[in-house]
Amino acid sequence: MIDLTIPPPAPVHHYWPWIVSILLIGITAWGLYTFFVVPILRKRRIHASIPYCPSLLLPPRTHQYDKNLSIASHRLIHFSYRVNLFHLTCTCLRFRRHRGLYPPNDIRRLCRHLRRELQPTAYNQQLDELTRGLLATRLTDACYSREQLSRSEIIVGFHPRSSIVRVYTFRKSPVDPPGGPFTGPVHKFTYNYHQDIWIYGEPPPNSEEVLAAISNLMTANRARYPQQDKLPLLRVENLPTPIPANEAAQTVRTRRERILSANPSTTPLEKP
Ligand SMILES: [Zn+2]
Repeated sequence: MIDLTIPPPAPVHHYWPWIVSILLIGITAWGLYTFFVVPILRKRRIHASIPYCPSLLLPPRTHQYDKNLSIASHRLIHFSYRVNLFHLTCTCLRFRRHRGLYPPNDIRRLCRHLRRELQPTAYNQQLDELTRGLLATRLTDACYSREQLSRSEIIVGFHPRSSIVRVYTFRKSPVDPPGGPFTGPVHKFTYNYHQDIWIYGEPPPNSEEVLAAISNLMTANRARYPQQDKLPLLRVENLPTPIPANEAAQTVRTRRERILSANPSTTPLEKP
């Protein structure tokens, strides 16, 4: 006898709602973490590290710079930011999130918009050449220190817990003596402290003395810098160092001009 009963339909598994839900939860969690948690954590870390990181203070600007300038975004069309060179403020996201946390006149406040607006000013020309060379590059380090060597000067950008160290100093020009002082243009040299190598293979002039200065600086600041979880508990004063300006910068320039004039050569000098 033939069985004419219809077999029950196979159960249908509806996976799609689950997959879509998991995707939505994942995207929401990623968005919350990226756009809320990370900025908050970073803000807290910067705030807590300020007292432990040495830095450089720009000389104050006169009130003639106290005006809001509109500067076009180079990434977003029809978008602009308001920049004030007197207060060193900008309305860009990076400034509002991070750079604005640093104290007044601290060089770490300078976002790309502030740097771009400062560069053509008379104020910028009053700064010494090494500082101008530093401000021509992105200021990405947590700590900055100016170190006087026997016959030259360097600015070191670093973080006590990082192995990357950036050194801003003058290149050696063809007419300079081997031990300095050096009169070439300011250049950024990058050093890996753990691996003991100059990245891109190029050491600065008088690199032995530079390395000794880096070693002293890193040793002192690492000893002072607490572990991350202890950052808010300890408080030490690490006041930023003022950058020489006006008369002091003129003295630096005069010294360099004297060096240049004392080294007559038929070889054209690199533009300082
Ligand atoms: Zn900005």
